[in-house]
Formats: sequence, structure tokens, C-alpha cells
Amino acid sequence: MAKRDYYVVLEVAKTASDAEVKKAFRSLAMKHHPDRNPGDKDAEAKFKEAAEAYDVLSDPEKRATYDRFGHEGLRGQGMGGGFQSAEDVFSQFGDLFGELFGGGGRQRGKAGPRRGADLEYVLAVEFMDAAKGSEQEIQVPKHGLCETCDGSGAKAGSSPTTCDLCKGAGEVMQRQAFFQIRTVCPRCAGTGKMIKDPCGSCSGSGRQRVSDKLKVTIPAGVDEGMQLRLGGKGDIGDKGAPNGDLYVTIRLKEHSLFRRDGVHVLCTVPMGFPTACLGGKITIPTIDGDVPYEVEAGTPSGKVVVLRGKGIPSVQGRGRGDQHVQLVVAVPKTLGPREEELVRELATVFDDKVREKSFWDDLKTKFNF
Ligand SMILES: [Zn+2]
Ligand SMILES: [Zn+2]
Repeated sequence: MAKRDYYVVLEVAKTASDAEVKKAFRSLAMKHHPDRNPGDKDAEAKFKEAAEAYDVLSDPEKRATYDRFGHEGLRGQGMGGGFQSAEDVFSQFGDLFGELFGGGGRQRGKAGPRRGADLEYVLAVEFMDAAKGSEQEIQVPKHGLCETCDGSGAKAGSSPTTCDLCKGAGEVMQRQAFFQIRTVCPRCAGTGKMIKDPCGSCSGSGRQRVSDKLKVTIPAGVDEGMQLRLGGKGDIGDKGAPNGDLYVTIRLKEHSLFRRDGVHVLCTVPMGFPTACLGGKITIPTIDGDVPYEVEAGTPSGKVVVLRGKGIPSVQGRGRGDQHVQLVVAVPKTLGPREEELVRELATVFDDKVREKSFWDDLKTKFNF
């Protein structure tokens, strides 16, 4: 099903305030709440859809991204992934549900197979790999399927039997004072199955620690802190429940020449004193290789020039940033005899005092101090 516009989902205007967004979600969540619509798949889908829309529109950063770039933009940044189940909604908005429904977001106990945990993997990426995109292999330690018992938890030759306390339901009714409360079956922990002869490798859990080798495609333009979501690559879920997701968080490694400011590349490039005074050709390194540059005569040290379109491609695939180059006069630490001779001669005609005064006069005119 195609994703609907979040504003349409919540039935609010694009200009809706935070309070209006919250109110809209409250009324939809009440209407489609799973406890009010048991077994109704359509209601559950609407419930999750509303929660996803609320998740984005209640977060200023996600909302701004969505307003500018839509669903694609969020996906590009590993956001707005939506919710796998109503349980996910409760675990994320547990506090809010307390507030919405006056305590106890949910009456029903969590029974049955549980979804695997989401995992995070921090991936340090070379500057150029982030700028150009790349493919990397990572090893993710996680809970995977026990290969000895193929996840059943039972020793070879035996198989799990139906739990005799809950008869496979995973839940039992308990009487407390005047109430009957449904709770997770204490004997089978909600799985509905019992293992008489547990597998030796996993002690009956059906899971084992594994190291999962994965290829990650890093899109060109990823930036520090962005997350890529690899659906289903997190911890394995209980039998019949989905796996968790893997979130790959990008850390950018430092580069010897380039720094980044979003899609813009920053760097500092030296020019000789004669070039700064008289103008001339220099070479500027960019992420696509060296480019020639003509320095204007009379370029002050520290001047920043902009090379349009030489920056990082936008991760949403919308154009490229610029490169901001700071030109600085390279002052030699030592001079050869002939150089020293010429600089000394220059010093006799080049009046530092006059140059300094004109420098300050320029600044005073510019900044009015
Ligand atoms: Zn096993
Ligand atoms: Zn049971």
C-alpha cells in the first residue's frame, strides 16, 4: 500500500500546531485502539499509520524533513520507518498512552511470540566513501537462530510440546480479588510451548550469539549521525514473530584536507605571497580531483572563495553543495640566501606601517568601528 500523506492521515492542516497534531492523533488512536477493535486488522493498520504520522509530525526535525522532502527524504535519513506492530507503538509512546488513556496504555498483557530487539551498529566511514557512496561489509554480533536445533529449542530427535498450563494459548486467566486478569503464562513465558529436553547449544532458547556478515550500501552524501535502517536484520524474533531491525549509525572519519558542513566541503589552501599580491594560478583539491584556480591580484590571506557545485551530493539526490576554500598566504619557516636577500630588499621599499594602516582603515569602513 502506498504511504499516505501524514497530514491526510491525521486529518490536520499543514500549518497545524503541535497541540492540534496531538489532539488529532489522540482521537484517531482512541478510535482504532486495538483494545477497542480486537482482531480487526484494518483498525490495527490505521492505528499504526496514525502512530507513524504522529511520530513524524510531533518531532520538529522529522516534520521539517518531511515537509521539504516527503517520505523519500525521511527514508533517506533512516527515519519515518513506521511501526511493525501495535506493540511497537505502545513501547515507543508508552508514556503518551498513559496520558491519552488515563493510565495503563494497555490492559492486555504482552503474550505470545515477541519481536526481536532492534540493534544499533556504529559504522565509521571514510570521508570519501561518505561523499561518493560505497558498499561496506560489517559484522554484527546479535542473537540469531540456534543452528543445532534450528530454533526449536528442543534437543535433536525431540520437539517442543504444547504447554499444559495454558494449552498453547500463552496466556492464563488469574483471579485477583473480584477481577479476572489475563496474564502471560508463567510456565511457558507466553510461547505456548514447553521443552522437556532442551537443546544443549542454546539451553532451550532457540537462539544463539552469532556474528552476522552484512553488506551495507552507503548512499553518497551520508552525514555524521545519519541512520540507515536494515529491516529485519536485528535480533531474531520468537518463532512466528518478526526480527528486529538494524540501525546503522554513520560516523564520519576525519580527512586530512577536507571538512564538512552538511553538503558543503570546507578546506584551506595555501598561496605564495607573490601570488597573493600579483595574482596567479594555483591548484585547489576537490573531492573530484585537483582543479586550477586563478587567484586575483591583491587577495588577502584568509579570503574564502566558493566553488559552486563542488561539494557533497545531497543524500536525497537533489544536487550538490559547494566547496568553500580559504586561501591563506604560506609563510616559509626558513628562507634560502637569495630569497632572504630579496625579502630584505622588499622590506626597504614595502612599508609595513602603511599597509597595516590601510588594512585597519578598510575594516573600519566595512564594520563601522
Ligand atoms: Zn538450540
Ligand atoms: Zn503456557
